[in-house]
Amino acid sequence: MSRRAKETDTQPYGHAVGNLIDQFATLPGIGRKSAERLAHFILNSNESEAMKLAEAIREVKQTVRACSRCFNLTENELCAICSNTQRQQDLLCIVEQPKDVRTIEASGVFRGLYHVLQGKISPLEGIGPEDLTLDALVRRVRLEGVKEIVMATNPTLEGDGTALYISNLLEGDDVKITRLSRGIASGSVLEFANREMLADALKGRQEF
Ligand SMILES: [Zn+2]
Repeated sequence: MSRRAKETDTQPYGHAVGNLIDQFATLPGIGRKSAERLAHFILNSNESEAMKLAEAIREVKQTVRACSRCFNLTENELCAICSNTQRQQDLLCIVEQPKDVRTIEASGVFRGLYHVLQGKISPLEGIGPEDLTLDALVRRVRLEGVKEIVMATNPTLEGDGTALYISNLLEGDDVKITRLSRGIASGSVLEFANREMLADALKGRQEF
């Protein structure tokens, strides 16, 4: 069988289009059909429009990194929140992902700093405590005079397990550990909580 015939079977549009579809299909929530639809959208858009997307991806990968203090996303050494001296410096909110910082900031009621774990302990996915930013967290608690930690990991089995692990880790430290009150339904994900719900959960936080 000729190479061309084989390509026709597995990649009806040729290598470049097949590759683009494969790349889109790696994105979360994008199945094969959607990946194909996106690839055709790019094929049909004009070159400068398509290049804006390529450029945006390139720029974000080259300029955005984790804040050296809290692991939130930033284009600088320190993120905007860590750089803001008006914020309460001895109050830390622990979240799984940078997008959770954004969610809590949108509630407008938290005035402390954050610590982004960059994930959650998940034995099923092979993610252990050593894969999270826990060393940096312990260092911060000891060196920055942190007085209270608000656990804002997701109210899921893994989020709760991660919060419990951290509270054990900090058992000997003189720091008060609280958890968002259960205004947020168990099993729900932080990013889907609405603003009022989050504000209530923060105000009503309870000792862990
Ligand atoms: Zn930061």
